[in-house]
Amino acid sequence: MIDRGDIERAATLLRAGGLVVFPTETVYGLGCDAANPQAVARLYAAKGRPNFNPLIAHVPDSAAAEQHAELHPIARELTEAFWPGPLTLVAKRRASSTIAELACAGLATIALRAPSHPAAQALLNAFGRPIAAPSANVSGRVSATKAEHIAADLRPLVDLVLDDGPSPIGLESTIVAVDSEGRARLLRPGALTRESVEAITGPLLMTNDSIEAPGMMASHYAPKARLRLDADAPRTDEVYLAFGSPARPGGLTLSARGDLTEAAANLYAHLRALDATGAHAIAVAPIPRQGLGEAINDRLQRAAAPR
Ligand code: AMP
Ligand code: MG
Repeated sequence: MIDRGDIERAATLLRAGGLVVFPTETVYGLGCDAANPQAVARLYAAKGRPNFNPLIAHVPDSAAAEQHAELHPIARELTEAFWPGPLTLVAKRRASSTIAELACAGLATIALRAPSHPAAQALLNAFGRPIAAPSANVSGRVSATKAEHIAADLRPLVDLVLDDGPSPIGLESTIVAVDSEGRARLLRPGALTRESVEAITGPLLMTNDSIEAPGMMASHYAPKARLRLDADAPRTDEVYLAFGSPARPGGLTLSARGDLTEAAANLYAHLRALDATGAHAIAVAPIPRQGLGEAINDRLQRAAAPR
């Protein structure tokens, strides 16, 4: 459990340019003062993240977001419907924004999210400024959904880890860009379903293949083991990640009852656990593509991509 003292300690470290791992409802975040370019540079270095991959700035609410971005009425409707929650909005950055340009990788746009997790909200309020935070994993590796997942090579570079148990959702936020004409594009499928977003925006345009949201890089979220997708059964040298059926001996199931929410929450922890068995390949059962299944399949495809 996280108490008031932990939150104050974390806020003090952020003010001093430190790096703090904190829980959100999606995955654990590696946070720093978004307005402090030295802290942002330190964060990129700790994560081993290419500098062209911009960070999400976390804010408590849409009023705070408006200070940093020009939100089209459609974007505002999205924040009203889904904030706080697992939706990241990409919008035109205000010239007056205090957020370090390095955090936006020099782009004219900025990514903003208001997390709903009580500890994240408490930290944002105690700190009083935006917190830049990517997922708390080494670049290209599986996101952390438990404090224990924070990699041994990342821990020494971090000043504090706020541990509040497993991430309730377990999958990153959905990223939607809304431009100045109100056109909405899906930059990354995620914890908020496309259907929910489209109820407000109408059909989402798809992003082109340029690395606009580098979470879109082909080989991302990669375990060490090879992945074979849409596998109805494991081959002899594979461990099996089931869905809609119980785990096989030596394997795991994302959800025995075929529940996509449960599967999202288990995805990264199970990939890690199967990876840790030293198996050279993980065979993954077919996962339906609707609802949260879109984001789950997206992450699995990236994890399976050649690297
Ligand atoms: P992560 O924090 O690890 O979940 O990754 C953050 C994601 O947000 C990455 O895929 C970034 O490319 C994306 N992102 C952040 N800022 C922007 C931006 N201004 N335009 C497009 N994508 C962005
Ligand atoms: Mg990430």
